Amino acid sequence: MNEAPPCRESDVLIVGAGPAGLALAVALAQAGLRSTVLEQASLASLAAPAEDGRDIALTHRARRILETLGLWQRLPANEIAPLRQAQVRNGISSLMLPFDARAAGHEALGWLVPNHHIRAAAHAAALDEPLVQVRGDAQVVGLSVKDTHASLQLANGRTLAAPLVVAADSRFSTLRRMAGIGARLLDFGRTAIVCRVAHERDHEGIAHECFFHGHTLAMLPMAGRQSSAVLTLRGDQAAAWLALDENSFAQRLQAAFGDRLGRLHGPGLRHAYPLVATYAHRFAMPRVALVGDAAVGMHPVTAHGYNFGLYGVDTLARELARARGRDAALMPALQAYAREHRRTTLPIYLGTNAIVQLFTNDHTPARLLRGAVLRAASLLPPVQALITRQLTGAGQPARP
Ligand SMILES: Cc1cc2nc3c(=O)[nH]c(=O)nc-3n(C[C@H](O)[C@H](O)[C@H](O)COP(=O)(O)OP(=O)(O)OC[C@H]3O[C@@H](n4cnc5c(N)ncnc54)[C@H](O)[C@@H]3O)c2cc1C
Repeated sequence: MNEAPPCRESDVLIVGAGPAGLALAVALAQAGLRSTVLEQASLASLAAPAEDGRDIALTHRARRILETLGLWQRLPANEIAPLRQAQVRNGISSLMLPFDARAAGHEALGWLVPNHHIRAAAHAAALDEPLVQVRGDAQVVGLSVKDTHASLQLANGRTLAAPLVVAADSRFSTLRRMAGIGARLLDFGRTAIVCRVAHERDHEGIAHECFFHGHTLAMLPMAGRQSSAVLTLRGDQAAAWLALDENSFAQRLQAAFGDRLGRLHGPGLRHAYPLVATYAHRFAMPRVALVGDAAVGMHPVTAHGYNFGLYGVDTLARELARARGRDAALMPALQAYAREHRRTTLPIYLGTNAIVQLFTNDHTPARLLRGAVLRAASLLPPVQALITRQLTGAGQPARP
């Protein structure tokens, strides 16, 4: 392989123009750092991303970061839905664990925004930054790390080099593997089916999370009289739900959810996601860092994946800004990022996985235990306040 000279066009090469990679490019530009974002998909698909069924619940801290980056202002206002309350139920039991934004002194627990709008906003913001270059049809197929720089090989034969390379190429990150960084993978053996559904009654900003025997159903309040239905099922059950025609799907959803929102109708396109959580063994090594799902890929039940992506972007950009221009300061900056990101994410990663395993295990002891957990939590307002604080991410500062 030919040795590429360090390319001083970019301070950072970012692999992956997902919502994390693009947000990082904007944050670095605000800190005066030049970056090139390499994306295997076409530029056209980045400018107008297809609807992918993911509706992203954003915390207060994530919103502040998006505002600082100028992404929040680019989201269509009529597509942002406040999440005012969340109600968690165990099967058909009448026991319900509520989380209320007002009780915690907030207007909302968080906000729900369709993922394709976040992606479009991130791309538009990156395009407006003179210090950011976004290249489409640029699949990265090789990485080589030297003392003075890291270089990336593209499928088209080109090589690019910079003092730092950042992997933002999804939870199944190729770059992470090429860098020799391992990851814990937890396959839940479940598939999430996500789909918009309209309903007769107003949802009043309430999210419902219902844990049934063998499957879970969340109904997340979106703009207007519609919710985002998130079903998690065993693979074979998922195939059966996906095969249903629209009417039968709406009827089955109604049978599972009941009539809290009146008649459910007009389901949109269904999207399926296999549920696998990932946690990289390291978030940084010399000349390489991981952000977004490449660092931490969360189960969606606690809605933290992209929020963590933004917290990581915020921290990494702040540390790189401090190290700016001084190569000797780069590795300490990466280590500081890795330490802080691990401290922020690991407890919630482990907690989320424990909750998912407890609530998807249908053996009798687990069913009894989760009833007891919900009952205990509903009787202990400080526990609810603590969880609400975690959910909102309130009280954690954004980069000044
Ligand atoms: C059903 C569902 C619901 C969710 N709900 C929430 C929620 O409520 N709240 C929340 O915070 N998060 C949620 N998430 C998580 C959130 O969607 C992810 O955390 C987020 O999209 C990750 O962004 P990313 O940029 O890290 O990765 P991705 O969006 O996966 O982007 C990676 C990019 O890298 C590119 N790429 C990959 N390999 C290469 C390569 N070799 N060369 C060049 N480019 C490459 C890909 O084409 C892609 O564009 C949810 C996820 C799912 C599946």
